[in-house]
Amino acid sequence: MRLAKNISIKMLAAIIVVSLFIACETKEDSDTTAEIVNPITPISTSVGRTLEPTSITATYKPAKTSPTPVLDVKRSPSTVPITAMVNLSPEIKFTINPNLCKDNQGPDCTELRLGDDYFTTSFPEIGYLYSCNDKNPNAPGSIESELTWIDFADKTWNLLQKLWLPETASGFDQGSYAEASLGQIREITTNNLPVDGKIGDWPMTSYPTLTKIDGNPGIPASQKSSLSYPSNPEEETTPTCVSFGSIGVTKNGVVIYHAADGRGEDAVAREIVDVFGGHPAGSNYHYHFIPERLDNDSLGDGHSGIVGYINDGFPIYGYKGKDGIEMSNDGLDLCHGHDHGSLGYHYHATIEYPYTVGCYKGTPSSAEANQVQPGGPPEGPPRRRP
Ligand SMILES: [Zn+2]
Ligand SMILES: [Zn+2]
Repeated sequence: MRLAKNISIKMLAAIIVVSLFIACETKEDSDTTAEIVNPITPISTSVGRTLEPTSITATYKPAKTSPTPVLDVKRSPSTVPITAMVNLSPEIKFTINPNLCKDNQGPDCTELRLGDDYFTTSFPEIGYLYSCNDKNPNAPGSIESELTWIDFADKTWNLLQKLWLPETASGFDQGSYAEASLGQIREITTNNLPVDGKIGDWPMTSYPTLTKIDGNPGIPASQKSSLSYPSNPEEETTPTCVSFGSIGVTKNGVVIYHAADGRGEDAVAREIVDVFGGHPAGSNYHYHFIPERLDNDSLGDGHSGIVGYINDGFPIYGYKGKDGIEMSNDGLDLCHGHDHGSLGYHYHATIEYPYTVGCYKGTPSSAEANQVQPGGPPEGPPRRRP
């Protein structure tokens, strides 16, 4: 009896030690290479982690914010067949569950309106993207038959079922963002990598689950860019269409592209981006919507703070409007903005297409023209029809 009790106390102590270890691990801002954990190693070995001399390592990396922890499987530069890696894959978690989806405000994340049919080149309309470029079915993009989270009959998509590229903690330069006022000009300089360092494990090639959906071969790289926007932009009577390429920049140093992919279809619904909301076109990392964590500032009444600036100089705020209520397209104008209180005209992020702007309320800066890539961004292989 006493023996059994001793054993159970020891087991309890062991569980507590292990739990403490796991708790410590989740607090660490760990680096991939430093945190090599072999899940097969018995927990009795030292502190539970072992530097593995073998060629496959599975790294348990705690997510830093909303995404749940992911088991990220990496190949070392040896000769292990890819099938061995795939065998470890079932533990990888590719989904996210943003706080935006947990409340009863704003659009329902399980049946978001698919934006494909809300793309127009004719004239601006509420809830639409007014594009300067026609749809191009031959542009690169994802494989339609693999998009299991889209209900093509209902024309809706489920954000909670969508797959996202897991994070990495290493391999990319530190992001930068600087803002200066020069007379009537707001000058913004970035290197187009996230200032908060939150980025996915690009390229996607180590994740067959994802590459069979979206063959985007891009790898984000540091690219210095300088943007000059009017500090006091003016509203034009006629809104302007939005082109491919950068349409603005977030205070996280990463540029914003509009809501459509190179084909003119809903980029947020269809393309694989990382758990932090971005993906590369070639080496140009960008967001098609505002990642929730950037909406981290709040005005007195709960209205979101500024998350970035659009090419016409008007600011884009986060997801929350007056009294801190999450916004949808209802209550926003043709260009996905509005004007209230002392804020002047401003755009809002929504988790509903067109996500950022529908058109330009002011005159877009010529910076946009410099960054447009003819035919749309190179984001993957040509479409293969099922
Ligand atoms: Zn994109
Ligand atoms: Zn507002």
